[in-house]
Amino acid sequence: MTFETLGLAPALLRALVEQNYLNPTPIQAEAIPLALAGHDLLGGAQTGTGKTAAFGLPLLNRLSKLTAANGPRKPRALVLVPTRELAVQVTESLRGYAKHLRMGISAIYGGAGMGPQVDLLRRGVDVLVATPGRLIDHLERGTAKLDAVEVLVLDEADRMLDMGFLPAIKRILNRLPAQRQTLLFSATFEAEIKKLALEFMRDPQQVQV
Ligand code: AMP
Repeated sequence: MTFETLGLAPALLRALVEQNYLNPTPIQAEAIPLALAGHDLLGGAQTGTGKTAAFGLPLLNRLSKLTAANGPRKPRALVLVPTRELAVQVTESLRGYAKHLRMGISAIYGGAGMGPQVDLLRRGVDVLVATPGRLIDHLERGTAKLDAVEVLVLDEADRMLDMGFLPAIKRILNRLPAQRQTLLFSATFEAEIKKLALEFMRDPQQVQV
């Protein structure tokens, strides 16, 4: 199995070669073709399995095909993560994969000033990585707009629920277009996660490593 056979855009393949990603990990080999085909996904994976690329590559592939309309860019992909550290790490990984694409990828998270985040949102972002609480702050102030989101990723969903983010996540989900792709990754699948999936995902395919 190689990345070429998975059907990714040449610009992404080039970035993977440059980062010495030779072969997809098991979660990538399973998740990427399903996500490229447009399915919603429930991915069972711990950190260290390569899950960031498992959702990141199909997401970037999709966004690379249609260039955004003129005018200020609004996020077309939203990645929700539990912590500031993970927001920074996911943003760096996505920027690496997208290095040959013209794509604005930025993170907003708590514990940092609102000002610079308001500025970056105003300048325009294609992929927004966010912790749920801080995203709610921006939604309430009207500085983040979610009406153009085509792909939603919930990364480490079990950790987000453990941290009490369920109400925030539900508020965010209710602000997103119904017509979208949703990719949910979690190390465990408690009843609450299954409920969330049932309520907010469309016929999700399960992938597990
Ligand atoms: P993640 O589980 O997404 O945090 O990834 C764990 C680590 O594996 C990161 O350092 C990635 O850069 C690396 N990685 C992910 N996928 C691959 C791959 N297909 N080949 C080599 N390294 C990878």
